[in-house]
Order: sequence, then C-alpha cells, then structure tokens
Amino acid sequence: MPGSQQRRIYFDHSATTHVLPEVYEAMTPYFLQRFGNASTLHSFGREAKAALEDSRKRIAAVLNCEAQEIVFTSGGTEADNLAIKGVAMYKGKTKGHLIATNIEHHAVLEPFDWLKRLGFETTILPVSSDGLVDPAEVERAVRNDTVLISVMMANNEIGTVQPVREIGKIASSHGIPFHTDAVQALGKLPIDVKADNIDLLSISAHKFHGPKGVGVLYVRRGTKIEPILHGGGQERGLRSSTENVPGAVGMARAAEIAKRDMEKTCAMMKALRDKMLKQVPETVARSYVNGHATKRLVNNAHFRFDFIEGEGLVLQLDFKGIATSTGSACSTGALEPSHVLLALGLTHEQAHGSLRITLGRENTEEEVDYFLQVLPEVVSKLRQISPFNEQRPMGPGDGGACVQ
Ligand code: PLP
Repeated sequence: MPGSQQRRIYFDHSATTHVLPEVYEAMTPYFLQRFGNASTLHSFGREAKAALEDSRKRIAAVLNCEAQEIVFTSGGTEADNLAIKGVAMYKGKTKGHLIATNIEHHAVLEPFDWLKRLGFETTILPVSSDGLVDPAEVERAVRNDTVLISVMMANNEIGTVQPVREIGKIASSHGIPFHTDAVQALGKLPIDVKADNIDLLSISAHKFHGPKGVGVLYVRRGTKIEPILHGGGQERGLRSSTENVPGAVGMARAAEIAKRDMEKTCAMMKALRDKMLKQVPETVARSYVNGHATKRLVNNAHFRFDFIEGEGLVLQLDFKGIATSTGSACSTGALEPSHVLLALGLTHEQAHGSLRITLGRENTEEEVDYFLQVLPEVVSKLRQISPFNEQRPMGPGDGGACVQ
C-alpha cells in the first residue's frame, strides 16, 4: 500500500516465524538470571538442568514419546544430519543402502550425497507430478542392506503431505529405521511418533514461533545411532556441546502453544489459503497451482505464472509490502531452479516463474484480499517487460487459466 506508513504483510512462514511474546517471556530468565551451564553441579547449573529436563518432558508430550527420546540440536539441519549419518555410520559402518525422495530438503539430500561419496548406496525415489511418493515404490526399493528410510512429513516448498504412517509401517515390517523430517509439520499436522511408526523425527523451533538455532531429533528408544558431534557428552552422549537452555525452554513453550492452538489456527489458515488457491487462477491469466490439490499443508499456496521470473515477482510484491518467496528460503540466493519443482516435472522456466505463499496464525482476510488485489497488477506489469512473453500485452481470461 502506498504512503509513508506502508503496510508490511508476512506471507513467508515456511521460511521462519516470529517468536511469540509468551515464548520470549518464558526464555528471558534463562538469559538474564538463570544462565547456568546445565552440566555444572552448583545451584545455577541445577536450575538450568531442571529447565532443560522440564522442556524435554514437554516436547516429548507434544510428540507422544518419552523425555529420554528427545535430543536437543541446533536446528532442523543438525537433526536431519544426526539421524541420517548417525544411523548409517553406526559403529563405524561405511557401507549400506539408504532410501529418500527427490523432494527432501537439502538437509536430507546433502547428507545422502555425502554418504554416497563415502561408499554408501542410495535410492532417491521420484514423486508424482503433484509431489506425492508412492509407498509401494518405497517398499520396492527396500534391499537386504537398507539401513534407513527418510521421507519428509510435509514439503517446505509445495506443502505436500506424505503418507508417513504407511511408509513407517513398511519400514517397521522390514525392521528398517524410519526417519521423517517434520520441520514444516509441527503445528499444522497432528504428530504422534508411536501411531505413525516413526523411529527418528526432526523438528525446528523457529518454524513454529520458537527461537532460531534450536531443534530436536526424536530417537526411538533402542534405535542404533552414533553421535556426529563429539565432545563433552551432553544429551546422553548423542550431541555434545553446552546445552542451549533458553532455546530449549522457548522451543517447549512454542511446541505446546502450536499443539494447543492447532485446530483453530489451521481452520483459519485453510480458509484464507483456499481463497487464494481459487482466486489466483481465476484472476491472473496463465497462472497455475503447484502441488497437490488436497494433500498439502493448510497454510501453503504455491503458484506458477507463465512469462514471469519468480524473483522479480517477489521483489515487486515486497515493494508493495508483501513478503513471499520463490523456491525455498534456504536456497534463495542460488540461481538454480528449485529441485522440488523440477521433481514435479516442471521446466526450468516454469520453476523460475513460481511463487510460494505460506500463511501464519496472525494473517488476516484483509491481508489476503490486498494480495489478491495487487497480484494481477504486478504480474501484468512484469509480463509487459518479460523477455519470455511473446504475446504481450495480456489480460485476465487470456490463455485459459487452469488449476493443476
Ligand atoms: N527441513 C525442512 C523441511 C525445512 O524446511 C528446513 C528449513 O527451512 C530445514 C529442514 C532446516 O531447518 P533449520 O533451519 O532449523 O536448520
């Protein structure tokens, strides 16, 4: 909106979220007064340790597991690395076979690549054009030497929700540990590690209104796993380094709030998101929805526009006060098209012309309406100067918009 008091609308909640005031308040004493090292013996250390263990218990309750199965990490990336490398390399193993999909986050795909360079073998399964992996294909990929299956619960770009319960069942029937990256799922999907047959699960606090730099790997009791960080032996030897007590306290509070408010916030986000999924293809010619029609996170809308460069679109929307993204936030800066969009079968040009909107608990209908009003103008302006556009100028209705 023009004027000096330009509004700022945040539609990039899959990149990160703000810390809720309640979370911030819960953390503050552990920066200021109760700053002890949780591994020390005196009263400062004991109160830090008590807060750490209390946070562990609270997060365990959210995931339906035991406190001793929670390992604090520095975020989702470390949790994924620990799960994958830690299981594959248990007791110094240098061989074995691992399965993942081609739309996993880089925090999963890169450890897979790294293990491959060390001598492991990997199967990277394709997904359908709407981003779903077929559990039957996962089962077909299983070998005698398969040591891990890793399939994300929900995709960070297109929001596709995978059939993890079914995949977990398959993994368990073959006695193979099953890891799921649930970084985008907490607060938007019910998570129950027991019912979902999950052995290892990664989450990251900053994706659900907790602080940045703290995550958790759930490790089912009895799972054979090796640490990847060696040092003072914290986190039962699985993750050395002085514990991030304020982070753990904030993460626990945020996880509880996310679970408590899930029904309400999801219903609200879904209604707003559905409005966008319906109206964008109706009002912007040659615009399409990426991802699955129904099996997607309630806060995720992902579009592509012919004759548009996604980066230009993000910048123009930012100029109007609306924060969105193209590709995933973690890979912004790289000019490579998103591997997730290519995995759906999109061309480089189509992938580059994509826009991700991810809603949060505080977005309003008025903000969505403003976006829906601004988007057609911005797209049309960009198309007028687009080198890809052979048919400019265009208006709504041209080319027959369709939803895929
Ligand atoms: N996994 C997924 C699905 C993500 O979306 C992200 C971050 O965007 C990560 C892992 C990495 O998490 P973190 O930023 O906490 O390292």
